[in-house]
Amino acid sequence: MATRLACRRFRAPLSRRRCPPQALAGPAAVRLSSSGGLGPARAACRGPLVRCGGFVGGRWVQAAAAFPVRDPASGAELSQVADCGVAEARAAVRTAYEAGSAWSALPAKERSTLLRKWYNLMIEHKDDLAKIITAENGKPLKEAHGEILYSASFLEWFAEEARRIYGDIISPPAKDRRMLVLKQPVGVAAIITPWNFPSAMITRKVGAALAAGCTVVVKPAEDTPLSALALAELADQAGIPAGVYNVVPCSRQQAAAVGEVFCTDPLVAKISFTGSTATGKILLRHAAGTVKRVSMELGGHAPFIVFDSANVDKAVAGALASKYRNSGQTCVCTNRFLVQKGIHDAFVNKFAQAIKKELHVGNGFDEGTTQGPLINEKAVEKVETHIHDAVSQGAAIVTGGKRHSYGKNFFEPTLLCNVTTGMLCTQEETFGPLAPVIKFDTEEEALAIANSANVGLAGYFYSQDPAQIWRVAERLEVGMVGVNEGILSAVESPFGGIKQSGLGREGSKYGIDEYLEIKYVCFGGL
Ligand code: ADP
Repeated sequence: MATRLACRRFRAPLSRRRCPPQALAGPAAVRLSSSGGLGPARAACRGPLVRCGGFVGGRWVQAAAAFPVRDPASGAELSQVADCGVAEARAAVRTAYEAGSAWSALPAKERSTLLRKWYNLMIEHKDDLAKIITAENGKPLKEAHGEILYSASFLEWFAEEARRIYGDIISPPAKDRRMLVLKQPVGVAAIITPWNFPSAMITRKVGAALAAGCTVVVKPAEDTPLSALALAELADQAGIPAGVYNVVPCSRQQAAAVGEVFCTDPLVAKISFTGSTATGKILLRHAAGTVKRVSMELGGHAPFIVFDSANVDKAVAGALASKYRNSGQTCVCTNRFLVQKGIHDAFVNKFAQAIKKELHVGNGFDEGTTQGPLINEKAVEKVETHIHDAVSQGAAIVTGGKRHSYGKNFFEPTLLCNVTTGMLCTQEETFGPLAPVIKFDTEEEALAIANSANVGLAGYFYSQDPAQIWRVAERLEVGMVGVNEGILSAVESPFGGIKQSGLGREGSKYGIDEYLEIKYVCFGGL
């Protein structure tokens, strides 16, 4: 049955069509780059992969309205993107549903080949894709390149995993029976992603879903839809069939309504979400009505414990990487440092020196920048609130502490000491470049503080005592532990949390299970 879209279609063929020139902001909105001329963010948004429609059933579609995408470094408008709503979301779900039977019936090897082609195109276009991330998210171009390789690696990995989906044959309890287990795709997967990894959060879910034989509808974050749409363009070029990968971008105003369609439409079998715990709970409540399968990657509050036996220089290097990547805006970023009293002063001094020497605030497109802007004003205000609260209760600013003179969304990398567990920054996720240090006495005390959170995504600790390493790794209440290591994500490893950090795992050999049903088949009378 042909799908009728409520939104107006561009004239076909549209898969090669770029944003109309009027979708870009006028010159008045454009900030000059430090090197002069048009800003690099805007130049990136004139690249060959920039699209501004929704992508449904293999076609670019418009909606009744559009919303602006802004450069977080300057506030300049980069593009106007179709603001899809309930009608477009329903149409996309139906389209995905209708494409499902042909996609799941393809031999796994063919799905694998198409995913591999998509991966190859991502690698071929990695520079353009990275520039889109820096333009809409603000992260330094080097980090954006890293994200594209990480993002593409999920398509490569799941292209391989597609061919390794195995069932089971079970020993029967009776002579005349044979019992087996089939693994089958769950159906349409609806996917909602955040802005902090605009590309990788999509492929980590979509790679697994498509490999399993599911079709998808994706709602990217309102701040960063261009990366999701660039992926759609490449999916199309790779030959992923129409209706298998659909994208419905929308503004924050429409997000709740689109999310509700995803969670309540009976044609959707699975919700996969990465974002805040508060939004995850809303989606869980909606999904309960039709008992959908759910995967939730929610907030974290990662502890980073430095024990007296640690190598202080390695701990400082790990702290820098774990805290300040993406300007502190990742769900596995350290949120609280717990440092044992014997090593405390040395660690704080060296950490402060490293922050001053190695971190450079600036535009993500400028060479040498390690700290781009925060995503928006609200994010900056949260960091300020956490610092004011801590200082008002006795914390001391070792370095940083205020907005950076570079621009309104830029914040100085900040280190606080004399922090206590009553302060806001040790109770909730800051999601910014703030490192609060709590001094502790014993291992028990550190574990009690670390485990007092109601979330448990990542945790890190530095120790050279093998017995302590085993004890603490086993007792930390988190889904992922870095032992003498500040960066732990990899395509090969299972990503996910416990407690209110979520449900399910992504990446690794386990990630595909989130998109597969187990069907038991019993042959009788044999
Ligand atoms: P953040 O505060 O970092 O933006 P959110 O959890 O609010 O984190 O956003 C993550 C994703 O969830 C984004 O794509 C956003 O548009 C979406 N979102 C936010 N609120 C809702 C909602 N009520 N229903 C569905 N999606 C939502």
